[in-house]
Amino acid sequence: MRALHNRLIAGLALAGTMLSAPLAAETVAIRAGSVITDAASEPSGPATILIEDGKIVSITPGTAPVAADRQIDLSQLTVLPGLIDLHTHLTGDPGGDFWKEATEPDEWGVVVGAKNARLTALAGFTTVREAGSGQDTAFSLRRGTAEGLVPGPRIIAAGPALAIIGGHGDVNGFRSEVNELLDSGFTCTGAVECAAKVRLASQNGSDVIKITATGGVLSQQGRGLEAHFTFEEMKAIADTAHSLGLKAMAHAHGARGIEQAARAGFDSIEHGTYLDEAAAKAMRENGTVLVPTLMALEGVSEGLGKGVYTPTVEAKIRAVQPLMATLVKRARQYGVTVAFGTDAGVYQHGRNAEELALMKKQGMTDREVLASATTGAAKVLGMDSQIGRLAPGFSADIIAVDGNPLADVTVLEDVDFVMVRGRVIE
Ligand SMILES: [Zn+2]
Repeated sequence: MRALHNRLIAGLALAGTMLSAPLAAETVAIRAGSVITDAASEPSGPATILIEDGKIVSITPGTAPVAADRQIDLSQLTVLPGLIDLHTHLTGDPGGDFWKEATEPDEWGVVVGAKNARLTALAGFTTVREAGSGQDTAFSLRRGTAEGLVPGPRIIAAGPALAIIGGHGDVNGFRSEVNELLDSGFTCTGAVECAAKVRLASQNGSDVIKITATGGVLSQQGRGLEAHFTFEEMKAIADTAHSLGLKAMAHAHGARGIEQAARAGFDSIEHGTYLDEAAAKAMRENGTVLVPTLMALEGVSEGLGKGVYTPTVEAKIRAVQPLMATLVKRARQYGVTVAFGTDAGVYQHGRNAEELALMKKQGMTDREVLASATTGAAKVLGMDSQIGRLAPGFSADIIAVDGNPLADVTVLEDVDFVMVRGRVIE
């Protein structure tokens, strides 16, 4: 026993040394045709970006040679900050076969996630917020991309979402003993138990607390799309998350569910389909941001009438279709801040940038759309001093495209170069 203990201590000490050992300080120089350092600024013209240890050291005008371990020539392209998607599910692929939950182990989600992490990064997304996944799948993936074992974006992970028993996010659609077997352990009833589940999520490694405040379009239960948690439960969740320094995000479709989650203190509303004036007022007063996820509907609509979804789910998709078509427009009319998020996983990963055109179609300017996916999204994550802009000290999360996204944001659907934390993604 003692020998084993000593071996473990020795192993831990070794691991500690390896983790704390300084990495070789590799310097990289990028020669850019033009640089958009911030969605609020104009393209600079030719410039050189110097990177060391995954961070930007300097951005200087001109492309005179700079001493660096590695030179990257992007002199024909526009270089800008990597995009941020506030709502993805990397560990899953789209499809209506909900029963796979009962046949595929959690570990499979990590394999699928590794594939999707690379696709997402190649699409220009250098940070994503994982909005709900199996127990440790997103946490493992987060570590994989951080350590460079898996090519992919920086991951801010919620882990399993908190749900009411049988609600959206909990297991449903199976016979009762199967539901029980597949239980994630993250349902809660009453303020005390809900606060406890937030602390448990925090202990397990959640970067952000996600709840399904209302019913959901893709769950098998036909329990409507209105508020499922009580106000007291929502408030306990948001307050507990905040007391731990974590942000709280609420999936919500029904207007009263949105209103209640905003009043309870949630930092963002995901989807927000039935947003009305009263719900928008609550969001405005509480500084709650809307993450519209228009691509989710785009993706599921493509499967309508093809037997992909059960009748319960088809009916819900058809009901929300017209509302999503005006969501961003309504939110902005009501003065609600909109930030970029797509619900990737409900549609095919890698198509994330198609959301930009959908936002533009609802009245946002190219610059506003770009800001929503860079500086705006970074602010929602509380990471606006690290990502979302290109500046000395910021993470080297860099993409390059042909054309000027401030003149036409849809050029971002075809990204030619991606770097995450100083690592080129291929
Ligand atoms: Zn989602």
